[in-house]
Amino acid sequence: MNDNPAFGAGLQPFMGIPSFMRLPVSRELKDVDVAVMGVPFDSGTSYRTGTRFGPRKIRETSLMIWGHNSTLNVTPLKKLNVVDYGDVSVIPTSIEHTMTAITKMAGEVIDTGTKLITLGGDHSIALPLLRAHAKKHGPVSLVHIDAHIDTWEAEFEGSPYSHGTPFRYALQEGLIRKDEYMQIGIRGPLSGANDYANAKELGARTVTIHEVMEKGVKEILKEVHERMKGPVYVTVDIDAADPAYAPGTGTPEVGGLTSYQMLQLVRGLHGLDLIGFDLVEVSPPYDHADITAILASNIAFEYLSLLAIKEKK
Ligand code: MN
Ligand code: MN
Repeated sequence: MNDNPAFGAGLQPFMGIPSFMRLPVSRELKDVDVAVMGVPFDSGTSYRTGTRFGPRKIRETSLMIWGHNSTLNVTPLKKLNVVDYGDVSVIPTSIEHTMTAITKMAGEVIDTGTKLITLGGDHSIALPLLRAHAKKHGPVSLVHIDAHIDTWEAEFEGSPYSHGTPFRYALQEGLIRKDEYMQIGIRGPLSGANDYANAKELGARTVTIHEVMEKGVKEILKEVHERMKGPVYVTVDIDAADPAYAPGTGTPEVGGLTSYQMLQLVRGLHGLDLIGFDLVEVSPPYDHADITAILASNIAFEYLSLLAIKEKK
């Protein structure tokens, strides 16, 4: 924990400088276990924007998180040396340049052995993040929590990259291990009757919200643990949560997961070989009372807690 009082250490949550969980802002990675990085980019969105303000707001709401995770019985910042790495220097008018910058900065972090927690930003950032992680670890097992399949073939005036396509290209580029990709919480109107079939053909195991609600989260987690054999990357789109719990997002879909189920899903990944994580699609301008950002910062804390448990072994 940072103990510099100028930073806000020892102060109330509404005081001081809002880095993630009041961690030191640093690009020095010596002996650092985990770096939290922001990607304030929303030019990959197809509907309403605003996720460029996500990282800042998630950092702000993270100041309300007290350090001990009572469910997992761990105090992550006592087990792990964590820094707030700051933001990727994005270019709002160029998704290609931004993607290159994300892969580069993510690579710089993970090449040192430091694990990365990335706060978005829209879901287009997952592709450059997966490129960086696959470059280091080889193809990854992928847990993707979302209302949307994001494997669409949706070209916007010749540009293939958007928040609706990252996993199509990740699969095509061989960044994901065969049969080790689950997308969980999927729902909503589709662009066509074949969307799920197309996702399956590409290599996704689509778990609809209907299946989650019928079987329960525990049963879905059982399949996750059976399936994932490689290094596991986790990507969480906040719109997997019902708009009642997460209204501050670009493409809300009704009939989703509760806040508790979101936490339960992430918590249940305990025991997997977790190598990377991102949390995307928080759009503060559409939020109410910060509830979406509060959920997001707590999900990130839950993941951080899993890394800390692993460190205990
Ligand atoms: Mn989504
Ligand atoms: Mn998504």
